[in-house]
Amino acid sequence: MEEYVHSVTLDSDACRGCITCVKRCPTEAIRVRNGKARILKERCIDCGECIRVCPHHAKRAVTDHLAEMERYRYTIALPAPALYGQFNNLDDAEVVLAGLLEMGFDEVELTEDQCAPARKLLDMPMEREGSGLTVREDDHYLTVVSEKFCYTYDKLKGLFSRMVNANQNLLEHPMEYNVWRAPTDNDRNIRSIWEECHYERPAARAYGTSCENGEKDGRKYVEIASDVSLSSVYKQRIVDIRAAWRVWADGSVDVRLDVKKDPKLPRLPRFGVRMMLPQDMRQVEYYGLGPMESYADKRRASYHGRFTETVDSLFEDYIRPQENGSHCDVSFVELSRENVKLSVAAEKPFSFNASRYTQEELTEKAHNFELVPSGHTVLCIDYTQDGIGSNSCGPGPEKQYQFLEEEFTFAFGIRVEGQA
Ligand code: SF4
Ligand code: SF4
Repeated sequence: MEEYVHSVTLDSDACRGCITCVKRCPTEAIRVRNGKARILKERCIDCGECIRVCPHHAKRAVTDHLAEMERYRYTIALPAPALYGQFNNLDDAEVVLAGLLEMGFDEVELTEDQCAPARKLLDMPMEREGSGLTVREDDHYLTVVSEKFCYTYDKLKGLFSRMVNANQNLLEHPMEYNVWRAPTDNDRNIRSIWEECHYERPAARAYGTSCENGEKDGRKYVEIASDVSLSSVYKQRIVDIRAAWRVWADGSVDVRLDVKKDPKLPRLPRFGVRMMLPQDMRQVEYYGLGPMESYADKRRASYHGRFTETVDSLFEDYIRPQENGSHCDVSFVELSRENVKLSVAAEKPFSFNASRYTQEELTEKAHNFELVPSGHTVLCIDYTQDGIGSNSCGPGPEKQYQFLEEEFTFAFGIRVEGQA
């Protein structure tokens, strides 16, 4: 038999049977019998109106102390529609839901696809399709030009070294493949193993680049593909990458990196691509785990949502500089300034961080007051990172959170919206 649990109760002694509540109940859930009100449980929607209007304070809200939440492993809030009605000018119910999560209720991950917002962004036609694509090539560079953009691909490294779109220079330093993170306190034991492999200074080398024009669904593109190795000086290869960069006539770029790691080497701190954007591109919007920093095994303080930050507010100021401020389970991130926005989106969740500091700076400096900003917005787009663990005084990351994959594909799209 169904049981109704309600948050409104009647103090019969206080009730005078005045029927004020009967007249105001929106669902006609109240009857007065023998001079006392009675609530029909199957009709009440817990709107609280009878509590508000009763002149004798005979209707009361049933409440629990917040400490009750500590008795349960998971605490789930089922907000009644009436909750939203308590706020004036509430445009977005997410604000209330975010408040409940910050109070300590647990997040329930829906089966709904978390990457649906990213897919929408990736499928969105850009504001203007360029009239055509021209490719110029020499021994070192391959340049894709349209009337709107000019992207220069470094054939020796397998990445873009320059991207200018709508007269806005987006890259102040060539893109890099990235496997290093500034060791955290919890990386203190694995750090020496990573440094022995020189994960902190790998160099990319492309062994052959091809380029072809194509068309899909009436949209023109140029696809550049390279076989790349990432190695450290005097050491064996860390990873082999088959990189395919598809440049569309509207200036968007779809990237697919098929990666094979040398199985004899220890697990990587991370894998991704690093971009040095202009430092005034500091407005950040993302959909993923936030607003607290989040990693594979350090995420219980975060929840899924769309967050707006700045590069500075993403920074977690540890006294001893270290990796910080990443967000995982992200489906898109956008960095912008007044007249240009660069978005990165993927159909599978990824992680990112955006900082004024490079990992090299965070690795080298012993104290936070010694840090020198790079002069760029350093954007790291990661397939994933190794877990954080607690190895400064306890065990390392559990196996399920270690970055143990030897072969994987990292695919994402770059979109640029800008005004000359
Ligand atoms: S809480 Fe709302 S729906 Fe329920 S009895 Fe009171 S007025 Fe009626
Ligand atoms: S308004 Fe208060 S006093 Fe009057 S019937 Fe309802 S509960 Fe009783």
